[in-house]
Amino acid sequence: MEIYDHPTFRMACQQFDLVADHLQIPTDERDRLKFPKRSLTVSLPIHCDDGSTKVFTGYRVQHYLTLGPTKGGLRFHPDVTLGEVAALAMWMSWKCALTGLPYGGAKGGITCDPGQMSATELERLTRRYTQEMIPFIGPQVDVMAPDVGTNEQVMAWMMDTYSVHNGYTVPSIVTGKPVALGGSLGRREATGRGVAYLVNRATDAIGLDITNATAVVQGYGNVGSIAALSLARYGAKIIAVSDVRGGVYNREGLDLWKLEKHVAQTKSVVGFPDSEPVSNDQLLLLPCDILVPAALERQITAANAGKIQCRIIAEAANGPTTPEADVILAQRPEIFIIPDVLCNAGGVIVSYFEWVQDLQSFFWGETEIVDKLFRILETSFTQILTTSRKQKISMRLAALSVGVKRVQEAKRMRGLFP
Ligand code: NAD
Repeated sequence: MEIYDHPTFRMACQQFDLVADHLQIPTDERDRLKFPKRSLTVSLPIHCDDGSTKVFTGYRVQHYLTLGPTKGGLRFHPDVTLGEVAALAMWMSWKCALTGLPYGGAKGGITCDPGQMSATELERLTRRYTQEMIPFIGPQVDVMAPDVGTNEQVMAWMMDTYSVHNGYTVPSIVTGKPVALGGSLGRREATGRGVAYLVNRATDAIGLDITNATAVVQGYGNVGSIAALSLARYGAKIIAVSDVRGGVYNREGLDLWKLEKHVAQTKSVVGFPDSEPVSNDQLLLLPCDILVPAALERQITAANAGKIQCRIIAEAANGPTTPEADVILAQRPEIFIIPDVLCNAGGVIVSYFEWVQDLQSFFWGETEIVDKLFRILETSFTQILTTSRKQKISMRLAALSVGVKRVQEAKRMRGLFP
């Protein structure tokens, strides 16, 4: 499977191999569980605003199809590769399985820099990608959602393009849409809200008073900003946040309401008054109780894992911690890790609610959605914490084991197809 070769894919494979050893999965079942079922690479020519024509590359990877449609986000970022997308698709499989959702994992991406493109260029690119994906997706085949660099507007363009092709409106083709187009209440907030809920549960588990806790958030995007606000609602003090341009730090706590206004005006946290600048590397090493990486993969590495000064790492991003860093963190039992496949599962859980609501054309209130979200997270958190403590294994190994085992059982019962 050389086509997927990439550091992030190798990392996802390394994690899988540890789980396979732990679960004693027979060798002849491993490759079937590990490697994606299928992937599609497309070339995407669009007209740019300056009159030129530019060709972008887009990907979609569907990891396994045994349990129902596949589900996963769409990323717009300059570093997107097929291998990165494949790793993210694999993690989606374990995440959906461990939270009991009837989906296989998938992920998509376009190698582009949305920050350097106009809204009309982004619309053309999104529509062209959706058009190319039509034979490969569908409400019962593969359902996309927002990820890094994409948002409700991108989902609206995708839904519209797919619907125009079909000749009727198909809201269930994507989740994370605007509520006005059949999106779910609480979807935009779901991932960050779930992160904060699980952090609160983790503080209970280790006996930390969240109302006296400090938190640092790397990546102040959709997930990071909502996680920060939700943690503040639980009583935590947010002392530092960052985005791709850099970070801001105030030991006494950042005023998040003023920060929201600053970000809305300047499109970055950088330059926020009442704070001092901090680099993304320094930010991860700040003394705090709760560290929330909410940006990209491979941020906590062998180089910084020994120097991190926190009690809880809440992995809001996918794959923020490398296996090498995990080895170092295993020697630091004072740090409690909420692994990504559990920590950021709130997003796909409410995406599942959105898909169900769209299929039934019957919409729920936000209280019902948040209540159902927290119930699923509670069950998963308790199961993983119990597994981790009983078997004396890390939270990551416990979470991945629960997910991989469910997929293994499903595949065993169905046979070699699909
Ligand atoms: P986003 O594009 O809204 O925000 C990403 C943020 O990270 C931005 O503020 C960006 O400036 C910042 N960033 C990018 N590169 C950075 C770097 N090198 N250092 C520091 N900051 C950097 O994306 P998002 O939807 O918030 O996703 C963030 C993470 O959460 C990703 O790992 C994504 O896969 C994961 N995730 C998202 C969802 C969701 O519902 N959106 C669900 C599950 C997991």
